[in-house]
Amino acid sequence: MTRKLFIAGNWKMNLDLASATALAEGLKKAMQGIQDVDVAVCPPNVYLHAVATVLEGSNIAVGAQNAYFEKEGAFTGETGMRMLKDVGCRYVILGHSERRHILHESSELINLKVHAALEAGLIPILCVGELLAEREAGTTDLVNRRQFEGSLSGVSADEMKKIVIAYEPVWAIGTGKVATPEQAEEVHAALRALIAERYNAEVAETVRIQYGGSVKAENSRDILSKPNVDGALVGGASLKVDSFMGIINGR
Ligand code: PEP
Repeated sequence: MTRKLFIAGNWKMNLDLASATALAEGLKKAMQGIQDVDVAVCPPNVYLHAVATVLEGSNIAVGAQNAYFEKEGAFTGETGMRMLKDVGCRYVILGHSERRHILHESSELINLKVHAALEAGLIPILCVGELLAEREAGTTDLVNRRQFEGSLSGVSADEMKKIVIAYEPVWAIGTGKVATPEQAEEVHAALRALIAERYNAEVAETVRIQYGGSVKAENSRDILSKPNVDGALVGGASLKVDSFMGIINGR
């Protein structure tokens, strides 16, 4: 089975209203006629509606970077999944390492968010990845397995087929230190084997696994050419039309 490549830009807490909409306009133009890759951008929540309005009818989808699991109510400062859907989101990134390690989100909390996203009709982009110390201690597979199982507890096979996994080694995020294509492929293959073990071969063959961590045009082609790498989650290089399109066009 051939899985369609999926490249998503995580804008993190960057840009302002004018630069976010200008970036969306530029990408929309540059993406015209490109059909063989799925592309999404994930702006800060406060700019989602404006960016989704610019991208309406285009071949670029919109995702959020996080949301809360409760449907509505007294949760000051939080954003619900249905709200994301309401303003035009298709995806929501969950369990990004910055949320796991800076905001101290547990896999249990992320699991509640995964279920809430699926219930709202959003596609979770679930991030997993090890710290440098964990890699050096030889526990990469164990850490990813723990994050995978904790974050996806109770997810059915049909639901799993819709979910996108992003393998993001924490030591490679925003550091300029990209994993080698071989390192990425090794973990992606292990994650796919884990999906086959937890579900079945068909689900494992369906799920797209993105790589994330200092991806840029100069290194993306080799990583994306690996058989178990089905796309990229891109931070820094997604903030400019040229650098993001360089990854999309360089595949
Ligand atoms: C990310 O934001 O998920 C990411 C991988 O960032 P960067 O590409 O900047 O390392």
